[in-house]
Amino acid sequence: MATANNPRKILITSALPYANGSIHLGHLVEYIQTDIWVRFQKMQGHTVHYVCADDTHGTPIMLRAEKEGITPEALIANVHKEHAADFAEFLVQFDNYYSTNAPENKELSQGIYKKLKAAGKIATKTIEQFYDPVKNMFLPDRFIKGECPKCHAKDQYGDSCEVCGATYNPTELVNAYSAVSGAAPVRKETEHYFFKLSECEQFLKDWTRSGTLQGEAANKMGEWFENGLNDWDISRDAPYFGFEIPDAPGKYFYVWLDAPIGYMASFKNLCDKTGAGDLGLGVSENTLNFDEYWQVQGNEGKNPETELYHFIGKDILYFHALFWPATLEFSGHRKPTQIFAHGFLTVNGEKMSKSRGTFITARSYLDHIKNPEYLRYYYAAKLNSTMEDIDLNLEDFVARVNSDLVGKYINIASRTAGFINKRFDGKLNPTTNNSVVAEIKAAVQLLADSYAGREYGKALREIMRLADLANGFVAEKAPWVMAKQAGQDAVLQQVCSDALEMFRLLTLYLKPVLPKLAAEIEQFLNIEPLTWAAVDASLSAQHSINAYEHLITRVDAKQIEAMTEANKENLQATPAPQPHSEQRHAVHQQNEANLDTADAEYISIDDFTKVDLRIAKIVNAEHVEGAEKLLKLTLDIGEEQSRQVFAGIKSAYDPATLVGRLTVMVANLAPRKMKFGMSEGMVLAASDERGGPFILSPDTGAQLGMRVK
Ligand SMILES: [Zn+2]
Repeated sequence: MATANNPRKILITSALPYANGSIHLGHLVEYIQTDIWVRFQKMQGHTVHYVCADDTHGTPIMLRAEKEGITPEALIANVHKEHAADFAEFLVQFDNYYSTNAPENKELSQGIYKKLKAAGKIATKTIEQFYDPVKNMFLPDRFIKGECPKCHAKDQYGDSCEVCGATYNPTELVNAYSAVSGAAPVRKETEHYFFKLSECEQFLKDWTRSGTLQGEAANKMGEWFENGLNDWDISRDAPYFGFEIPDAPGKYFYVWLDAPIGYMASFKNLCDKTGAGDLGLGVSENTLNFDEYWQVQGNEGKNPETELYHFIGKDILYFHALFWPATLEFSGHRKPTQIFAHGFLTVNGEKMSKSRGTFITARSYLDHIKNPEYLRYYYAAKLNSTMEDIDLNLEDFVARVNSDLVGKYINIASRTAGFINKRFDGKLNPTTNNSVVAEIKAAVQLLADSYAGREYGKALREIMRLADLANGFVAEKAPWVMAKQAGQDAVLQQVCSDALEMFRLLTLYLKPVLPKLAAEIEQFLNIEPLTWAAVDASLSAQHSINAYEHLITRVDAKQIEAMTEANKENLQATPAPQPHSEQRHAVHQQNEANLDTADAEYISIDDFTKVDLRIAKIVNAEHVEGAEKLLKLTLDIGEEQSRQVFAGIKSAYDPATLVGRLTVMVANLAPRKMKFGMSEGMVLAASDERGGPFILSPDTGAQLGMRVK
């Protein structure tokens, strides 16, 4: 590992938020996670660049701008301003926050495409797609609706049914219509451009297993490899808001091609801005070199010595761990050093919900809670290096902020600084052999390792343990008692000086999480900005501190209540928003597709009890000749006759592994004649863009035939 004398050069990114909505608390998990890591690495003395941008292209942006009667450029300019302000107020300190709709990105995207083409990695294929004859445009799957071919529920999307969970092609929908114009779409042939991902399989298998991914992410990749990689459709037909493909008039890059290249473009823009500072007097020492971070070294195509890290949500792993490294590899660029995926945010244990008022925007949090560092602290306390979801429990949030930050941390200074200010004219004594100070200093390596390994929760638990020790020291010495006794001045000054040294060290450790508070404390302690190396320093003899001012206020449960109240939508007046991304798989981390959209419409308990759910034993499972998605299951629910059910789970299950398992079935669904025979019920399974279908299993002890209620 490099030392401060040998600083590493590190480029870090967070995923690009899509430019058609506001930043909300779900998004902030990632930006706060990344920012803490960036600040920690900077405090280590490394050269760190943190870049991001708005992701601006695609059909949803084009249609929304049209609806608002403005150009897409005007729409994305407004959103950019809003996003940049939100991030700044949450102390997410990008070195550059750019846009994918930028000349650098256009040039880079077209250049990469040309290299992929020269490498033989681009193919064209004529495909048939739905076309809106009124709007004169091809329709992405999510803009086609109709009746589910399986359960005949109305108004279902073109890729899956939200009622029965079936997935299908839009061409299978019954009475399909365009969600844009309402017209019946026609099928039309069009030529599309494909990136030959299927030819990159060996490279990707090696790359994803070379320590670039978390273990659980590499395993997920393994599942995808088992299913085989399909070539990737990288083109869209006009009208489309994006970049035109070179030598292909009317064809545009699919938004997911140019989005990750936006990382490069944002960095290129930063390099150019930095370079402009030297007034043409030659290359300055500080000029950032784009190639140093993105070009491979030598003929062997090795990554350069600079490092590249992407922080992403687990839902966009497919794009970052397959498409992106393959794009880079076959266009002669460096690959990421590592990709760090995190889980989703739940609020009070559930998906964020507009009806419960837990779909909270960054702005609404700032309006009600004010202090962004409370959220930074709470998220950090919950974050680790895995892809597990994290929960924002609002009650726990209040309790933890008040007890940790106010009750433990700030308390150390608020109980001791006044004596130094009033009795000793702000002057401190140097710390002598204080065992608590020594123990706090000794934690430095553990804490550095925890931050570097993204184990922020572990770091904060240790810091709070140390804060407890410091408080124990203050309570035991009781300076407020000493202050009333004669002849105790020297001891009083020493105790308070030691406590403030503990406070300085804890501030240093917390600085990546609480940068604004740390800056205020540096001001109060009258010290230089704390770096990690300052652990070895101490508040020296005759050093004077400034007057202690109130640093932090408790958060009140009433503020939380007001915030959730303000975020509750009137469901009568406003229908719950529908996901509207161009492809469900293109959903950016925690965008509105992750919203609980179903809770707008309640059913009564009577509606629910109409459904006869039973524990069923799978006594046989087999492939169905000629069926692409179905398995034929024989289910025993304790009736005389077993049931035959066709289930669309072939993509996820080997029939042999299902035999003998217990699962849950709908036993009173009207039997339906299917192409392959009668289906006498339905098996329940979960799925969405993150994977599936996953069939349900009851807990141990459940017996076949039991009613689920
Ligand atoms: Zn359905």
